[in-house]
Amino acid sequence: MIVVMEPGATDEQIRHIEDRIQQLGLKAHTIRGTERTVVAAVGDERITKPEVLETGPGVAQVLPILAPYKFASRELKPEPTQVQVGSFRAGAGVVGVIAGPCSIESEEQLMACARAAKSAGATALRGGAFKPRTSPYSFQGMKEDGLKLLAAARVETGLAVVTEVMGTESVDLVAKYADVLQIGARNMQNYRLLEAVGNTTRPVLLKRGPSATMEEFLLAAEYILNEGNQNVMLCERGIRTFENHTRFTLPLASVTYLHRKTHLPVVIDPSHGTGHTYMVPDMAVAAVAIGADGLIIEMHPQPEQAMSDGYQSLDFAQFAETMQRCRKIASAIGKTM
Ligand code: PEP
Ligand code: MN
Repeated sequence: MIVVMEPGATDEQIRHIEDRIQQLGLKAHTIRGTERTVVAAVGDERITKPEVLETGPGVAQVLPILAPYKFASRELKPEPTQVQVGSFRAGAGVVGVIAGPCSIESEEQLMACARAAKSAGATALRGGAFKPRTSPYSFQGMKEDGLKLLAAARVETGLAVVTEVMGTESVDLVAKYADVLQIGARNMQNYRLLEAVGNTTRPVLLKRGPSATMEEFLLAAEYILNEGNQNVMLCERGIRTFENHTRFTLPLASVTYLHRKTHLPVVIDPSHGTGHTYMVPDMAVAAVAIGADGLIIEMHPQPEQAMSDGYQSLDFAQFAETMQRCRKIASAIGKTM
C-alpha cells in the first residue's frame, strides 16, 4: 500500500505513520517528493487493510500497489531513479556507458581498455573477474587478481568499475573492490544472492535471465530493493528464442515496457544481445534512440585474441565511433551522455 501524506504533513506525522506501518508487521519506506511525501507499506498485504492507516494524522489517501513488485513499481515512485556512483550516472535523462572486456585477462589488456573507454567518453569500466562460463573447461577468470586490476584502473582513470559477483560467498570480496555489482543472467533467480547484494551499499546491475519474463525480472529486482538497496539497474541482455542468426534475441521494446512499469534505470547490452561485433554499434545507437538509460558494451584491444566473447567485442576504434554516433542521438532526444 501507499500512504499519500497531505501536502505540508509534518515530520512527526510522517514518523507516526512509519511507526504504525512497522507495528502492523510491514516495512515502511518513505519517499519525499517535491510536492508531497508518500510512505510505502510493503509486505504481506493480506495481514492488513487500507482503512487502518487512513485515519492517521496528515494522511490524505491510502492506495493499493497493484503490481506484484512494490519497491520497483512506478506506482510507488513515479519519478525515474538515477543511479550514481563515482564517475557513473544512469537514468533520469543521463545515459551511462559501461565499456570494457568480457574477462579481465592481464594488467596490460585491462589498462588499455580503461584508457580507451575513458577517452571515448564511457563513464564506467567493466571486466569479469569471476566468469560464469557454459563449459567448466573454459577460462574462469582471474578472480581476486582481476579485482585488484580493476581497482588499479579506477585509480588511474577515475572510472567507476563494474564486475560480476557469482555467489553469496564472494559478495564481500567483490564489494570490497567494485563500485557496481553485476548479477549475471544465469543468476537472475538466485534469490539468496539477490538478498546478499541487497544488503550491500553497492549499486547493482541486474541482468535479465535469458528465459525470464518481465514480471520475473522485476520480482528479482524486488528481492534486492526489499533488503534496502535502492540502487538497482535493470539490464536487458537478450533472451533465448528459436532464432539463431544472433546469439540471443535483443528486445529493445523492453526499454519502453520497463519505463512504464518501473522507475529503475534500464541498461542495454548489445554485445551479449547480438553475439556479433558487426551488429553491436547499430543496436547501441537504437538502444539510445528508444530511451535506454545506459549501455554495457564489450571491447578488447584485439578482439580476435580475447579469452572470452571476442566475436562480439568491439576494438577501440569501433567503440569510439559507436560512442560518437550514440552521443548524437542522445543529444537529439535531450539527454546527457
Ligand atoms: C558478461 O557480462 O560477460 C556476462 C557473462 O553476461 P550475461 O550474464 O548477460 O551472460
Ligand atoms: Mn561476455
